[in-house]
Amino acid sequence: MAVERTLVLIKPDGVQRCYSGEIISRFEKAGLKIAGMKMAWCNKQHAMKHYTEDITKRRGEFVRNKLLEFLTIGPVVAICLEGVEAVEVVRKLVGGTEPRTAAPGTIRGDYAHMSYTYADDIKKAIPNLIHASGNKDEAKSEIALWFTPEELHSYRTVHDVFNI
Ligand code: ATP
Ligand code: MG
Repeated sequence: MAVERTLVLIKPDGVQRCYSGEIISRFEKAGLKIAGMKMAWCNKQHAMKHYTEDITKRRGEFVRNKLLEFLTIGPVVAICLEGVEAVEVVRKLVGGTEPRTAAPGTIRGDYAHMSYTYADDIKKAIPNLIHASGNKDEAKSEIALWFTPEELHSYRTVHDVFNI
């Protein structure tokens, strides 16, 4: 089944820079359906369930701790997006992890600039506006972490009606 769901978080830097509308609009214009959306200010326990030990394995304990701090400094906008190959398509629109090298035209490439080395120098998690599920398994567990089944909606958009 090619239609799938994925999780996006507009991280605190995106909310505080007032880019929420712009970011949501990019996904909508690409044909992705908003299945669920809410603003949430999460605590460290919740952040730890989002950025799990998997991050420690890939990025190290220091980066995970900075990320947990970063995710809890202000509210995030959590969005469950639905569409054809949504996990992959959303990652493409979001762009690479490091804003310095994220391709122009992507959200991170257009609206952020920081490098890994600069973030490490100032001992911060790299502010790159968005989180997006990395694969289908991540999407499944992350959607369940941020949304109850009642908060997710099934309805038709023009893309469903006209198969476009
Ligand atoms: P995300 O999971 O947030 O969608 P990603 O999948 O592109 O981003 P990950 O490897 O999962 O990247 O890292 C999670 C987040 O950790 C990144 O989005 C970034 O904010 C932060 N990060 C990763 N590496 C570093 C680093 N070396 N220094 C500072 N922050 C980092
Ligand atoms: Mg990731």
